[in-house]
Amino acid sequence: MACPHCGGPTGPWSGYLRHLRDAELHRIFVPRVRCRRCGRTSALLPWFVSPYRWDSVDVIGRALELSVAGQGVRRIAAALGRPETTVREWCRRFRATADALARVLLAAAIRAGWSSFELPTATGPRCLAAVDALASAWARRHGPVGVWRLAALVTGGAWLAPNTTSPLASSGISPVMARTTRTTPGGAPCHRTPPKPSPSGGTT
Ligand SMILES: [Zn+2]
Repeated sequence: MACPHCGGPTGPWSGYLRHLRDAELHRIFVPRVRCRRCGRTSALLPWFVSPYRWDSVDVIGRALELSVAGQGVRRIAAALGRPETTVREWCRRFRATADALARVLLAAAIRAGWSSFELPTATGPRCLAAVDALASAWARRHGPVGVWRLAALVTGGAWLAPNTTSPLASSGISPVMARTTRTTPGGAPCHRTPPKPSPSGGTT
C-alpha cells in the first residue's frame, strides 16, 4: 500500500486487536503499516469495519436505511439491539455527510458504468440511491457485494467517520486505506492497543 499521507512505500508494522459487533461480538486483528518515508503508521481496516465504531458497516448501514425510511431512533435501536445514543450518533453523522457521500459514490458508480436519470432530490434518499447505484454497477462486473461495505471501501472508511470536518472533502492518495493514523508513543510498534469503551454503552 502507498502511504495515505505522502504516497511513500509502506511495510508491515504489527497491529492491534479490537472489537466488532454484528449479530454477535467479535475480536479481530487489524494490521498496521508504517511509511518508510514519513514514518507515520496507518491501520488496514477490513471493508466491513468503520474507524472508531464498534458496529460493522452492515449494521450501521441498515440503521441508516431505516432512518431514511422514516423510522425513529428509538425503534431503530430496538430493532437492531443497539443503544439509542449510538444510533442517534450514526444518524447525526449521516445527515452531516450524506450530501458529500452521495456525490463521491455517484462519481464512483459512473466510473463503474452506471447511468440513470432518476435520482431522488432529498439528500438521504439520494445517498441511499447512490449506495445502490455503485453496488449494482460493481455487481455487474464482480458479482454480489454488501452495498455498505462497498461504500466504506470507496470512501476509505471515511463515509461515517466521527470527524468534525468533512472526511470526504480531501482526495486521499490511497482512498482504500482508512484514515486512522495515530502516532505510536515512543515510535515503537504497537502490539496491543487496549479496546477503548465498553461495547455495551459506547457511542463509538
Ligand atoms: Zn508517508
